[in-house]
Formats: sequence, C-alpha cells, structure tokens
Amino acid sequence: MSRNLLVTGGAGFIGSCFVSRQITAGERVLVLDNLTYAGHLVNLEQVLHSADFSFVHGDIGDAEVVARCLKEFHPDAIVNFAAESHVDRSIHSAEDFVRTNVLGTEQLLRTTKDWWQGLKPEVRKDFRFLHISTDEVYGSLDKNSAPFTENSSYAPNSPYSASKASSDFFVRSYFKTYGLPTLISNCSNNYGPRQYPEKLIPLMVLNAVSNKPLPIYGTGLNIRDWIYVEDHCAALDLILSGGRIGEAYNIGGECEKSNLEIVQSIYKILDEVKPKSDGTSYGTQIKFVADRPGHDFRYAIDSAKIKKELGWRPRHCFSEALRKTVLWYLDNSEWTRQIMDEDYRKWLHQQYQDF
Ligand code: NAD
Repeated sequence: MSRNLLVTGGAGFIGSCFVSRQITAGERVLVLDNLTYAGHLVNLEQVLHSADFSFVHGDIGDAEVVARCLKEFHPDAIVNFAAESHVDRSIHSAEDFVRTNVLGTEQLLRTTKDWWQGLKPEVRKDFRFLHISTDEVYGSLDKNSAPFTENSSYAPNSPYSASKASSDFFVRSYFKTYGLPTLISNCSNNYGPRQYPEKLIPLMVLNAVSNKPLPIYGTGLNIRDWIYVEDHCAALDLILSGGRIGEAYNIGGECEKSNLEIVQSIYKILDEVKPKSDGTSYGTQIKFVADRPGHDFRYAIDSAKIKKELGWRPRHCFSEALRKTVLWYLDNSEWTRQIMDEDYRKWLHQQYQDF
C-alpha cells in the first residue's frame, strides 16, 4: 500500500535515508524540518525533485505549522525523527534538548491527537505515529550483563538520553490516555553516509584526512552496538506496517565494538585506500582525551522481538558497510564542504580545544 508519510527531522542523517527509501518504494513524503545545524536539504538531493516529495520548513513544536501539514497532506502516518541528537552538545547545554525532544515532541503529539480525533473512525484506526528513539534511554551495561530488551528499565544518564526517555514516556502516555496509535523504536548507534561530522565515524574519517588528531574519550574501551543506517530504516518500515500499536521495538546491529576498535578499523581502511604521503599510518594521529562526563560504558541490544514478530534482520556486514561509509565521506567532499560551516569549526574547537 502506498502511504502519505509526514516525516519530521527528515533532513537529518537517518531521516533523509528513510525518506529516500520510502519515495523509491513509491510512497509520498512530506518532510517537516526546521533545519538546525544538523539538518540540510543536500541530504535529500536524491528526492528533492520527485513529485512524491514535499518540504515544509518548520518546527515540530509549532502547532500552527503542524496542523496545516496535517490538514493539507492527510498523512497515513507520522514518523518522528526530529530531535537534538548529540550527547556532547547536551552536556554543554541541555536547553535545546528539552525544547525539541521533550516540549516539541509533546506538542507534536498534542496537535496530532487533536487532528486525529476528528478523523472518520475507519481512517483513525489505521493511522500510526512512529517515534524514533535510542537504546541510550536504558542507561549503561557492564561487560557481562544481558543486552537491553523492551522490558529493561529506563535509566538515562546524559541530558540527551533523559530528554529522549521523556519523549518516549509522552508517546506512551498518548497511547494509554487518548488511544493515539503510537509505536516506539529504540535503536543502537547508526553509521552510514550523511551523518553530521560531529559523530564518531565521520569525525574520525574527516579528521584523519585533514591531518588532525583522532580524539578518543578515556581509554577507548566503551562499547556500542553499531547498525548500518539502511538496516535501521528497513526495520522502521516493518514497524510502521506491522508493529503492534502501543508497543516499543528494540533494533540493534548485533555488532558490539569498542570506540577504539571502530577507530582502528577506520584508519586501517584509510591506510589502504588513501595512504599518507609520509608513509606513516593514520593510527599515529590517535589522541586519547579526557573522558566524556557520565560516559555510559556499554550499550547492547536484544532485537529478538522485532525479529520474531516482523521478520527483520540486519543485512549489512560491518566490515563492508564501514568501508562503503568511509569511501562515501572521501568521495563526497562537496557535501562535507556544505555541512562543515564556521559554527561547526567553533564547536569542534570548544569540544577538543587544540583542533
Ligand atoms: P540528526 O541530528 O542528524 O537529525 C535531526 C533532524 O531533526 C535534523 O534534520 C534537524 O534539523 C531536525 N530537527 C531538530 N529539531 C527540530 C525541530 N524542533 N523541529 C523540526 N525538525 C527538527 O539526527 P539523526 O542521527 O538522524 O537521528 C534521528 C533520530 O533518531 C533522533 O530522534 C535520534 O534521537 C534517533 N536515534 C539516532 C541514533 C543515531 O545513532 N544517530 C540512534 C538511535 C536513535
């Protein structure tokens, strides 16, 4: 069935991958995005001229704009990617995280609920509100603990994860209180093309080839589960089509790696595909820096529920998908030039003083 999808935050990293995927599959998409430092229309260049794509520059917390999108576009579903998404920025200042992730999500839910209640019953029951969230809401695991399931307690440790946990609770409450047909997904660390360069993988690739330090927090032994962004988007499509309303689904890549292992994999690919002129390895640029405050040690995801109920599996092999990702950043310097503006350089300098 071809649907009308209202995708918030669709100009960011994961949202733009999802939008391109769904339009290619024959669906119509309206992106609502206020284009923060992390949102760029260049991320949507593959679909910008498609008749099935439209864009509204606006904030999820702006009830008037959201109400207009709902009235004019008649979405069959809303997929909410819009968020402030970087833990380090939330440590510097949590204000924007509360504004968008908490207040913005609640306002989006409220505006949606008011519109949804006015729909005919047969249309109302098929509507879906899919909220995209993170495994970070569950807090930190030690080395030997079992991975997070959907029944793990919420124990967010950073202002970012606290704001996402709060948004998840609001989504849950709109299902329980008003019957809004909601779904939540909690996914692990994504990687792939078009990720804002403040995040680990693009930061390492771009710093390495600019002859800058490769900053690693603490000992580098903190562990994350890594998933290729296209596997995440495939899972979201399945949840939207077949997920049980009111439920949450964990999504993980079955790929636990320490930060140090990730950086080592990246510099080995670079050593091979773009050897340094002085013959040394990019690994010599590694610089261990003061640890992130409150740095969660380990995240790991148990994806048994989505596998069993919806038949999802991560399809991409880490080493191949990482290589493809590294090559994408090397081959797309025009994208990088457009994304890395003066504000980004100031942020990098504030975060890692000597850059
Ligand atoms: P991103 O920072 O690349 O993109 C966020 C997008 O939201 C941007 O386009 C931005 O302009 C937009 N946005 C921000 N505030 C907005 C507002 N008030 N109104 C409208 N648009 C707004 O983030 P991402 O990495 O693509 O993550 C997307 C979602 O997935 C987030 O909700 C994030 O919490 C979640 N998530 C991310 C990861 C990951 O590894 N990146 C993992 C799990 C979950």
